[in-house]
Amino acid sequence: MEKQYLIAIDGPVGAGKSTVAKITAKKLNIIYVDTGAMYRAVGLYVTRKGLDTKKSEDVNSVLNEINLDVKLSNEGQMIFLNGEDVTKLIRTPEISMAASNVSAIPEVRVKLVDMQRKLAETKSVIMDGRDIGTVVLPNATTKIYLNAELDERADRRYKELIKKGQDVTFEDVKADIVKRDTNDMSRAVSPLKKADDAIELDTTGLTLEEVVDKVIDIINGR
Ligand code: C5P
Repeated sequence: MEKQYLIAIDGPVGAGKSTVAKITAKKLNIIYVDTGAMYRAVGLYVTRKGLDTKKSEDVNSVLNEINLDVKLSNEGQMIFLNGEDVTKLIRTPEISMAASNVSAIPEVRVKLVDMQRKLAETKSVIMDGRDIGTVVLPNATTKIYLNAELDERADRRYKELIKKGQDVTFEDVKADIVKRDTNDMSRAVSPLKKADDAIELDTTGLTLEEVVDKVIDIINGR
């Protein structure tokens, strides 16, 4: 049997997790799982219902109506919310914050973590998120905590949003990042933190190629 890779990538907003994970998945010919997209899809559903994404009563009252499907490939992931392709719709600042809000609710995490573990049961995957090394895949074969200085993370996210045609300012993007990271690090259940056995990689000042090379070296135990 071929070796099963279970690669966990965690870290704050804009550290480069998804871009790096996507490229690494292609190079290793394994599946990339974007767990943030699942929290975003739940956030989108609750927002569309006109409910409060921060209130557990609100969110839990509709949780059973939410059916998520992810289509995995090494080209990137598509996500379907009750049959609708929402892959692109979930990439707005509003839905980022909604995702962060619903992700603090224990019932939401139970539902999504279960899905995530099933996705990794029989395949080699590289999965990114906030609790992959600590909770979702505690037995991951490689755990990486990606980080970078705040200004650089804000700049990367700002450029990404501008490229997608969104009307944002650098200052707003930076403030959103601080707010979301603070939310994610301070919540009671599965807060964002480096797993004890994760390797921390600071990507400040590194090019994408340099980061990917370092990630592949870590995966190969070099
Ligand atoms: O990774 P991304 O920025 O798309 O994630 C959106 C939000 O979903 C995060 O800010 C975080 O609150 C939540 N999330 C999480 N656990 C994960 C992945 C994402 O709580 N494994």
